[in-house]
Amino acid sequence: MTPDLAQLVERVTHLYEDLHFQSVHDWKSEEPGRHAIGYMPIYVPRELVHAAGMLPVGILGGGDRLEIIRGDAYFQSYICHIPRSTIELALTQRLEALDGMLFPSICDVIRNLSGMWQMLFPERYVRYIDLPQNFDPAVGGTFWRQELDTLREDLGRIGGREIADLELRQSVVKYNENRRVLRQLYEARSERPWFFPTSEVYLVLRAGTVLPVEEHTKIVRRYLELAPLQDDRRDQDMSRVVLVGMFCEQPPLGLLITLERAGCWIVDDDLLLGLRWMSGDIPEDGDPLQNLAIAYLEQSAQTASVYQPEGRRGAWLVDSVQRNVAEGVIFCAPSFCDPALLEQPMLVAALEREGIPHTQFKYSENTGQFAVIREQAGTFSDSIRLWSEA
Ligand code: SF4
Repeated sequence: MTPDLAQLVERVTHLYEDLHFQSVHDWKSEEPGRHAIGYMPIYVPRELVHAAGMLPVGILGGGDRLEIIRGDAYFQSYICHIPRSTIELALTQRLEALDGMLFPSICDVIRNLSGMWQMLFPERYVRYIDLPQNFDPAVGGTFWRQELDTLREDLGRIGGREIADLELRQSVVKYNENRRVLRQLYEARSERPWFFPTSEVYLVLRAGTVLPVEEHTKIVRRYLELAPLQDDRRDQDMSRVVLVGMFCEQPPLGLLITLERAGCWIVDDDLLLGLRWMSGDIPEDGDPLQNLAIAYLEQSAQTASVYQPEGRRGAWLVDSVQRNVAEGVIFCAPSFCDPALLEQPMLVAALEREGIPHTQFKYSENTGQFAVIREQAGTFSDSIRLWSEA
């Protein structure tokens, strides 16, 4: 690896590993009066937080680097891991840089966590972001616009000034730019995955959950320049797969490395989906709040927590397989994740109608043993290569 790429990777790795969010503390201390607002997966309108002059900070649990001591006491056994580690982060004062938290409505676990937050931290701003499930502009659009209005007022109050339309338009421009470079990154990885290993791409993406959007865009651009210059990265006889189910609780980095070592080029995924939520640009002129509201209705990623009309579930996955010339799909979801696991049979049915091979396993953010996953993914990779050659 060239020294400049090594330096970039070292920086994003450090951000990923820092469970004390020092970069957020640093950003706040650069100017008095700055605020940071945390958000849980998957999607929140970060443009509004940015327009308020605040830093949106993705809270994605503690991964495999946090020992859960008190977090377990808050939840029953049979749910996913991310709420426990998020509570643990908060109870161990690792989230002190945050002046508020947003909890988007993706499942009951996140809903309950938002209630717990209100009880545990009554002095901090907490908002449950009730995303629309009706995609008729007159119904869901009107509702979502009202929710955005409330959030705009709340953030304005915390920041001590109203958010102007002009500021919001400027924020939309910045996030459009960021999503464009992320789309370029995904396209580049799909074209030549050996230059853009997912275990590295993930770290580059993940930096976008803690850095200001302008800085993150620069990092992604630089990565796009540097990665293809690495002479030691060559095409290999590996299978092209799409990974599905990782939109909320994140897999440990070791799991992504394991999949690559098992012979899988990951050519599409739903990791950190909130960063790439809109499929295209949000209009940059006109009423910015209305533009945000309509963009949610028309350009949202298709995933388990979003309503899709009868018979359409899985169409996006088949499309991703075809567009990325993938040979198979790996369903890789957090244990006990209702949205991911309840959607899975419908996705499987869609794949089977098209004869697309698939396999599945589950993980927890603190999974530490990958031997079984490596064997399973390796066997899957070998078998789809054999099928495609047959
Ligand atoms: S991992 Fe799944 S069940 Fe757990 S909080 Fe996230 S979406 Fe909800």
